[in-house]
Amino acid sequence: MFKKTNLVLLGGPGAGKGTLSAMLKESAPFLHISTGDMLRAEVKAGTELGKQSQSIMENGGLVSDEIITAMVAKVLQKDEKKYGMILDGYPRTLNQAKMLDELLLKLNRPLDAVIYLHGSDDFLIKRLTSRIMCRKCNRIYNQYAFPPQKTGVCDDCNGEIYQRDDDSEASARKRLLTFHAQTQPLIKFYKAQGLLIQISCDEREAVLAETIKKLN
Ligand code: AMP
Repeated sequence: MFKKTNLVLLGGPGAGKGTLSAMLKESAPFLHISTGDMLRAEVKAGTELGKQSQSIMENGGLVSDEIITAMVAKVLQKDEKKYGMILDGYPRTLNQAKMLDELLLKLNRPLDAVIYLHGSDDFLIKRLTSRIMCRKCNRIYNQYAFPPQKTGVCDDCNGEIYQRDDDSEASARKRLLTFHAQTQPLIKFYKAQGLLIQISCDEREAVLAETIKKLN
């Protein structure tokens, strides 16, 4: 069904990009690139990039376009293009989107669709501040709606469940402001390219079905 489909997942913080990526990966193999996960891995490993990025992330800002694009380019250039790809959380600025266009042109790997997960600010804040995840495999849970079976332990890998530092209400609000200022312009950009698919993110169960229907 998703034979070599190349997707960008766009949406405010808490819209469910990570959850939708996981669901799509259950229906077909994909190369999944989550720039947020990559940066958190750098922070955890204590690299120079991790040290530089940590405070930016906690303050709801964005890491530089050049650094992020170089990170994504490194993965894409090495990839054998055996499967489709999901770009989750990248691009996040107009400049990144233009850099991505250039990169994909060089790699002869055009985008098939950009899925915009849309939700109101109140909804996103509520969801973000109740989100918890696994430190080991990055599986996402919600404290109230779908917690792990055993408190504090991941159902899949027994990893430790934690709340991201940037999911505090103060950070979440700043991330939302960043989304409106820097990422929202991408909606128009991709609409003009005829790639945009808008999906409402408030019905978790319906998001995958809706995405598949619209992609088809
Ligand atoms: P996420 O897990 O996608 O919510 O990303 C967490 C944080 O990592 C963001 O709030 C940004 O600080 C940073 N980040 C992730 N992706 C990008 C990107 N494409 N450009 C700049 N910063 C990013």
